[in-house]
Amino acid sequence: MPDIIQLLPDHLANQIAAGEVIQRPASAVKELLENAIDAGASSIHLVLKDAGKELIQVVDNGKGMSAIDARMSFERHATSKIKKIEDLFEIRTKGFRGEALASIAAVAQVVLKTKQTGDALGTLIEIEASSVTKQEPVACAEGTSFSIKNLFYNVPARRHFLKSNTTELKHVLDEFIRIAMAHPDIAFKFTHNNVEQFNLPVGNLKQRVLALIGNNIDRHLVPVEEQTDLLNITGFIGKPEAANRTRGNQYFFINNRFIKNAYLNHAVNSAFEGLIAKDAFPLYVLFLEIDPRKVDVNVHPTKQEVKFDDDKMMYAYLQAAIKYALNKFNVAPSIDFTLDPEIQHLSALQMPQTQARQAATSGYLFDKFSKGGQAHFIDKQEDRAAWKQQQKTFFPDMPSLGIPESIIPDERPVQAALMSTEVLDDVGYKAIIQWNDYLITTMKSGVVILHQKRALERIIYEKLASSLENKRHVSQQLLFPITVNFAPADALILEEILSDLFLLGYDIKPDTAHSFLIQGTPTDIPLGYETEVLEAIIEQLKHESDMVQNTKQLAIIKTMSKRMAIPRTMQKEQAQALIDELFACDQPQYAPDGSLIFRILHKESIESLL
Ligand code: ADP
Ligand code: MG
Repeated sequence: MPDIIQLLPDHLANQIAAGEVIQRPASAVKELLENAIDAGASSIHLVLKDAGKELIQVVDNGKGMSAIDARMSFERHATSKIKKIEDLFEIRTKGFRGEALASIAAVAQVVLKTKQTGDALGTLIEIEASSVTKQEPVACAEGTSFSIKNLFYNVPARRHFLKSNTTELKHVLDEFIRIAMAHPDIAFKFTHNNVEQFNLPVGNLKQRVLALIGNNIDRHLVPVEEQTDLLNITGFIGKPEAANRTRGNQYFFINNRFIKNAYLNHAVNSAFEGLIAKDAFPLYVLFLEIDPRKVDVNVHPTKQEVKFDDDKMMYAYLQAAIKYALNKFNVAPSIDFTLDPEIQHLSALQMPQTQARQAATSGYLFDKFSKGGQAHFIDKQEDRAAWKQQQKTFFPDMPSLGIPESIIPDERPVQAALMSTEVLDDVGYKAIIQWNDYLITTMKSGVVILHQKRALERIIYEKLASSLENKRHVSQQLLFPITVNFAPADALILEEILSDLFLLGYDIKPDTAHSFLIQGTPTDIPLGYETEVLEAIIEQLKHESDMVQNTKQLAIIKTMSKRMAIPRTMQKEQAQALIDELFACDQPQYAPDGSLIFRILHKESIESLL
C-alpha cells in the first residue's frame, strides 16, 4: 500500500484556519478595527460597500508598519503583541494570536497601504488568496489602510452562505457599536454605500453611549461606579422605565473588551427584579475592570466568552453595585443588601488584606462586603408608592371564572349562536355588564362571557389584514409628527418594513441616520402608543430575521393587534358596538394568538351551578 498522508499546501491550510476567525464581513471588521486600536490610532474610518461583501476598508492614523512588518503581518502566527508565554496572562491588546490578517488574506483580495510616522514613503502590498501580487513603495498618509475586497471570492460555498445585506450589515453594526462604545477616546466614522452611518467625535463615555444607542435615553441613564478589591465597575444602567422589550442594549466589557456572559447578565437582571416587567430587558453598558490574570479570555477564538477565577464574587459585586446605583438615584424601593450566605463564605472575603484591597477601601461595596462580609439595609424610601405608580402595568392574566371547566359546554352550538341577530335578541331585557376584563351579555341560548382585550385584538387584526390584502392605506395624520430614535440595528429592521407599515396605516419617513418621523398612524392606535407598537414589532422581527414576506406581514399585524388592543371602560353602546364588530369578524372565536375570546354559558350549565 502507498503512503497517503500529505501536508496540506499553505493556501489550503490558511483557508481552513480562516474559517475559524473570519465567518462573515463582521468578523473581518472586528479584526481590522481592533488592529487599528492596538496601533494607537486616535481616528478610525470604516468604509463598507454592500454590507462588506464587496468592500471593507479600515483607515487609521496609528503607528503604521515598516515595509518588512507589512509583509510579515500576513503570515500566520505573526504578531507584535506577545513574545513569550507569560505575556499571554497580561494581555493589554485586543489581538495577540496573529491569525487575523493571514486568515483574511486567504479568503479575499487585500490591499494594504501603511506608513510609519516620519517616513517619507509608505508601503503598498496587494495580496490575493495568500499570495502577494504586488509590493512597492507608495506615497500615502501616516497610519494604515486595509481594503478587503470580495470576501470569500475563492470559497464559493462560504460566499453563498452569507446572509442578506441587511443581516450582514446588522452584524457589522453590532461589532462597530461594541468597539466604538469601549473607546470614546477614539474618533470613529462609519460609511456604508457612501452614506455616513456614524460620525463619532472624541468624547466621554456618556456622550459615546448616547451617540450609539440614541439620545432619547439621556434622562434614563443612571451611572454605576464601584471599586472593589476584585473588580472595578463603571458605566451606566437604564432606569426601569427605559427597559423596553428590546434585549439589544445590553453591553458588558471586561477590560474594555466586549463579552457575552449569561451569568453576569443574570446578576444585573436580578438586581432589577420586581422593578421591570418579566419580559423586559434592562439597559446596561457596564465596564468591568479586573486583573487580567484573573480572566481567561483565551477560551473562545472570537473571544466573546470569558472565564473568571471567581465568578460568584463577580456576580455578587455586580448585583449589589446595580442595586446600589438604582437606590442611590432613587429609582428603586428599599432593597435588602444581605449577601447570599454561600457567598459570604467564599475565600475571597476571608483573604488577608492585599494592596489592591487597601487601594479600594473607599469603595462602597468594599465597606459593605468586607466588613465581616456583611451587607446592610438601605433606608426605607418614602416614595415607594410613587415609584410603584411609575411602573408599567401589563395586562394581568385572565382571572379564573371560578366555574369548573367541565360544566361549560364547549364549542357545541357556538357557530349557530354567532349570528349577530341572535346576540342582539332581547329576551326580557338585555344588559351588558363590564366586569373585570370581561363583557357579559345575554342571548337566547345563554350568557356570553367575552374577553375584552382579546376581542379587540381580533377586530384590529382583521382590519389590518384587510388593509394589507386590499393594499389600502388608511391613516390618521398626526398634527405634531413624532420623532423617534432607534438603536442602529433596530433602525435597519424598521427601514425594511416601512412599506408594509405604510399599508397598515403608519406614515413614517426616515429622518437622520437612525431616527424617523412618524407623520401618520393606523386609525385604531390609542394615543401615546405610537412608538411602543413600533418597538414591539421590531422586537418580534429581531428574533426571526429571515422570514418570508408573507409570514413577516402576519407577524407584524399580530404584534400590532396585541399592542393596540387596550381594554377600557365602556358605555353600553360602545360595548354593544364592540360585540357586533367581533361577531362580524371572519374568526370571532379566537384571538390571533389562538386563545379563546368568548364562551357561552348555556341554560343547562347555569342550572347545574345552582
Ligand atoms: P494580532 O492582532 O493578533 O497580532 P493580526 O493578524 O491581526 O494579529 O496582525 C498582525 C500584526 O500586524 C499585528 O501584531 C501588528 O503588528 C500588525 N498590524 C496589523 N494591523 C495593523 C495596523 N492597523 N497598524 C499597525 N500595525 C498593524
Ligand atoms: Mg489583530
